[in-house]
Amino acid sequence: MVTTSYSQPRIAIIGGGPGGLILGRLLQYNQLGFTIFERESSRSARQLQGGSLDIHAESGQEALRQAGLHDTFKLHMRVEGAALRVINKQADVLFSDEGRGEEDTRPEIDRHVLRDILLDSIEPSSICWGKKVVKVEPVADQANKFQISFADGTTESGFDLVVGADGAWSNIRPFLTDIKPSHSGAIMVEGRIADVDTRYPEISKVVGHGSAFALGDRKGLLCQRNGDGSIRTYVLLIAQETWAKDCGIDWVKEDAKDILIEAEFGDWDQRNKDLLLKANEELIPRPLYMLPIGIKWESCPGVTLIGDAAHLMTPFAGVGVNLAMNDALDLANAIKSFVDDDQDAPLSEYQRKFEENMLERARKFAQESWNNMKMMTGIAASTFS
Ligand SMILES: Cc1cc2nc3c(=O)[nH]c(=O)nc-3n(C[C@H](O)[C@H](O)[C@H](O)COP(=O)(O)OP(=O)(O)OC[C@H]3O[C@@H](n4cnc5c(N)ncnc54)[C@H](O)[C@@H]3O)c2cc1C
Repeated sequence: MVTTSYSQPRIAIIGGGPGGLILGRLLQYNQLGFTIFERESSRSARQLQGGSLDIHAESGQEALRQAGLHDTFKLHMRVEGAALRVINKQADVLFSDEGRGEEDTRPEIDRHVLRDILLDSIEPSSICWGKKVVKVEPVADQANKFQISFADGTTESGFDLVVGADGAWSNIRPFLTDIKPSHSGAIMVEGRIADVDTRYPEISKVVGHGSAFALGDRKGLLCQRNGDGSIRTYVLLIAQETWAKDCGIDWVKEDAKDILIEAEFGDWDQRNKDLLLKANEELIPRPLYMLPIGIKWESCPGVTLIGDAAHLMTPFAGVGVNLAMNDALDLANAIKSFVDDDQDAPLSEYQRKFEENMLERARKFAQESWNNMKMMTGIAASTFS
């Protein structure tokens, strides 16, 4: 474990998602001390960690490069995964980009593979598993020091910087602002078709090497090829936050997908319907939440946020992980500058500048994501014809 010298800030990272893990790795790479507190009980507590992510050259990949992990990333990335097709409800292809022009800019990687790369690169003793943080607060008798409290009743004290990288429902955010995520108006229902090439070659052909979006009637079937031979299909609907509970579908039952498809996509081409009907695992409905576009808070020396905790947005700009990694890179560089500059200015000054840049960058992408969602659910496929 890296030894923290007296002149280094003591740093707690709350959450071991992509943002928290790359921040830890970047600090470790720069010989800076830190501890990650993650609520999951162990590295293997959650088996499948979501779908495929495109990692952008200027943000996610740059963070990996500066963390000394880009060569490892290249061993696992899928350049062909950048391909995109847009299909209408009759299953005609309206737009197709086979992704070759983006070979070096937006390759895909499965979320769990990225997580493994990051976890393998961090000294295991720097991660405390099974530590759900419930609260951060100033230490009563120590100026500029913070204490964190855990759900198991324990506390850790004396941190100079607490970084909330704990995602959408951050328990660190309430220390900085009362703003909470609200429902965006969209719902996604996730299905997964395993071993698609051998079991359903016709679906494999429709989706191609990357993503295929079937759009129409203000809704969609968004499919994404994963590196494990599966395809994930996300049903996109505009509906109330409580729709999954209210719609009468029993999500654990085998016929959930038939009921959903007949109710929402009854007059769509069978090839589109099969993108969900052939799913072989339980469907998972998720309302999509977002923080206000342009969210800001008054900087509080010693406590900050990165990634979804700071600027949760809908996934329609495809940038959430990239922003989280970019935030981590900028924050790691800010901390390094503070240490390298012999602490001429207080850490809070570096933190404030970091937050200003992060929130301005996030504002632009949150707006883009919102515009994309409106386009996909409003004008839908006609935009691409
Ligand atoms: C359906 C869908 C598809 C998406 N597709 C893409 C995509 O293609 N490309 C892309 O870039 N982004 C995508 N995103 C967005 C992306 O998933 C997020 O932006 C990204 O995961 C944010 O990373 P993070 O590290 O900030 O937070 P998270 O990934 O949410 O990680 C937070 C971590 O903190 C832990 N945690 C939470 N609370 C606590 C606590 N109280 N104490 C301790 N630990 C805690 C969690 O267990 C988790 O490990 C998608 C999102 C959705 C919903």
